[in-house]
Amino acid sequence: HLDNNGILYLSSVSVSFDGFKAINNLNLIIEPGEMRAIIGPNGAGKTTMMDIITGKTRPDEGDVIFKSKVDLTKYDEVQIANIGIGRKFQKPTVIETLTVFENLEMAMAGRRTVWQSLIHKLSNEDTQKINENLALINLSEDAQRLAGDLSHGQKQWLEIGMLILTEPELLLVDEPAAGMTDEETMKTAELLKEINKTRSVVVVEHDMDFIRALNSKVTVLHEGHVLAEGTLDQVQSNQQVIDVYLGR
Ligand code: ADP
Repeated sequence: HLDNNGILYLSSVSVSFDGFKAINNLNLIIEPGEMRAIIGPNGAGKTTMMDIITGKTRPDEGDVIFKSKVDLTKYDEVQIANIGIGRKFQKPTVIETLTVFENLEMAMAGRRTVWQSLIHKLSNEDTQKINENLALINLSEDAQRLAGDLSHGQKQWLEIGMLILTEPELLLVDEPAAGMTDEETMKTAELLKEINKTRSVVVVEHDMDFIRALNSKVTVLHEGHVLAEGTLDQVQSNQQVIDVYLGR
């Protein structure tokens, strides 16, 4: 039994690839309702950490616990998504030949096939949920456009909207600002802050303007473990963090 009520708890987690410790004694607690930004130089272990949380990679050692009780190391990727952990990958996977609305409809239908979800008649409640989602992701005006015609940033928002319709308690987001314009980057920070009002969010990102806009606690990873934690100003003035980023 654990003495904390974190939504996500990693304790002494390690994983090696061919003898190289990509994650090395990693400890991390995300509080319920928290937004957390994860930063760190290339190779720090950020992607591997996300892979461990979502069941894509199994740790060699350590505990990965969801909501103080669920041992995530016992489940696979599909099961972990169903338990309530949504992951947004860097590359959008929206279906370009369907409209924005149809993509959301499909996400809402969950396990139904694309074809089944398109002939399924939406209840008023479902339609309202999708319309609220469209407003959240700033795509109300674009509902009937083909997803393939959206800008890169809009596709990312659509994908986030699709994930939200599966109602995850914890949303993991991999480099959402990559390839976005400055304006899209700031809108994405606002979107994640809005989403964080109802669920916990963990974001991996390199863009410091974006991290600053999130205004959340920051964890710096380095060589597979936590180097520093605090506000962005605190970690940016930490000498060890400065040395790591400058390659000293
Ligand atoms: P980040 O996302 O912070 O850039 P990664 O988690 O991708 O870091 O990688 C951490 C380290 O683990 C890197 O040195 C990387 O080369 C190594 N690594 C990651 N995945 C694998 C794998 N499947 N096989 C071998 N090495 C890997």
